Amino acid sequence: MPARYGKKLRVKLREVEKKSKKKYKCPSCSRTAIKRESNGVWVCSKCDTKYASGAFEFKG
Ligand SMILES: [Zn+2]
Repeated sequence: MPARYGKKLRVKLREVEKKSKKKYKCPSCSRTAIKRESNGVWVCSKCDTKYASGAFEFKG
């Protein structure tokens, strides 16, 4: 496997991880409190609303 490929993949994984750890704005209470609970499941820590969204990125 070429080394270039491995480097690209690592950069991509880092981006995905950053997005998955980021907090997102809740469409229900408008506060930035949505955190990833598990793959595709996001929950707002302020109003406890659960959302089904992207596996690593919230798409409200
Ligand atoms: Zn909320």
